[in-house]
Amino acid sequence: MNDLTVTRQTFDEVMVPVFSPAAFVPDRGVGSCVWDTQGRDYIDFASGIAVTALGHAHPELLKVLQEQGSKLWHIGNGYTNEPVLRLAKRLEDLTFADRAFFANSGAEANEAALKLARRVAFDRHGAEKYEIISFTQSFHGRTFFTVSVGGQPKYSEGFGPVPAGIVHLPYNDLEAAKKAISVKTCAVIVEPIQGEGGVIPADPAFLKGLREACDQQGALLIFDEVQTGVGRSGYFYAYQDTGVTPDILTTAKALGNGFPIGAMLTTNELAAYFKVGVHGTTYGGNPLGAAIAEKVVELISDPKLLEGVRTCSAALKAYLAKLNERFGLFTEVRGKGLLIGAELNDAYKGHAKDFVTAAGQHGVIMLMAGPDVLRFVPSLIMPEKDMNKGFARLTKAVESIVGAKAAAASH
Ligand SMILES: *Cc1c(COP(=O)(O)O)cnc(C)c1O
Repeated sequence: MNDLTVTRQTFDEVMVPVFSPAAFVPDRGVGSCVWDTQGRDYIDFASGIAVTALGHAHPELLKVLQEQGSKLWHIGNGYTNEPVLRLAKRLEDLTFADRAFFANSGAEANEAALKLARRVAFDRHGAEKYEIISFTQSFHGRTFFTVSVGGQPKYSEGFGPVPAGIVHLPYNDLEAAKKAISVKTCAVIVEPIQGEGGVIPADPAFLKGLREACDQQGALLIFDEVQTGVGRSGYFYAYQDTGVTPDILTTAKALGNGFPIGAMLTTNELAAYFKVGVHGTTYGGNPLGAAIAEKVVELISDPKLLEGVRTCSAALKAYLAKLNERFGLFTEVRGKGLLIGAELNDAYKGHAKDFVTAAGQHGVIMLMAGPDVLRFVPSLIMPEKDMNKGFARLTKAVESIVGAKAAAASH
């Protein structure tokens, strides 16, 4: 046994305080259930942050982890390995892409995508075509380039001069985008559904318009599917239900079901601009992560599983509608598949965190997407009985908040 005693309090003593974790400390998980160090159980509607799409301790993933873990974890990119080649083939069979670059996270996948776009524009058109267009409230990761491209100033301010040539436009405003996309534009990066920004789906006409404007100006269209990808939307990638195909797609989060892995997918033509040595990574494409991701992709690309996501989506939306009828909480419930956001009305605006805290106290793990939106991103294979148990607990949590508010008003 380990003789180092640690508690939630230890976090405040030993960790760089960029996070403010919940009062309880999760200890183990199976499927959509998590237990904390005190033995209390929770229903998981968060999946990390849309990461554990096949739930916790999935037996087939455990088997791969153990098998590959006892064979070869890491060999470096001076060598290739069979798991990574199989993973690339699977992803390419499922998508528009012919080529994959593997990294360890969503931010790194986006970093690769943005660098590729800049390099393609530089080699094809020269040094003047470097402008990257992105959208307000978008989120693309926490590296310096990706926070600069992301549309949330609170994440990019205070770190010195940002890289030049980044323009932010309002999301879903096609007229603004059409005006801004020019010969100087090297790429447009967009989430098909903004996740962190509040679970906001793109209008199909907006994406179609971006595609046309990019084609007219020789700019690349990058879809950041780090959150929407790998089954989350009810399609393997969300773009597959939009009628618009990007030039570059980034994917991470659910790809490893918790094992850190990300990927940038693109065409033969564009991949050719990343010649030997132009970009790289130490861990990216390691056999352990790749073997796990290969199994994740195999399981989630099953049409029956994807159909199940769409069915569960309807059940979750119906529950939230009923909750809203009873308590009057939301202005809107939106999203696709199992990426659902419920926007709080004026009475509760700014208080999403209170709902997350109350949910935790009632045995539910859930998320917010900004201060005004409750976000639900459960496992894509959440059993119906766990979902219903979670709903019952969540209703109690909401009752406690609504009750406390009514009591405060009457004093
Ligand atoms: C989470 C997220 C990222 C960043 O991924 P990390 O693995 O945290 O680097 C990028 N883009 C989107 C849309 C995300 O949701």
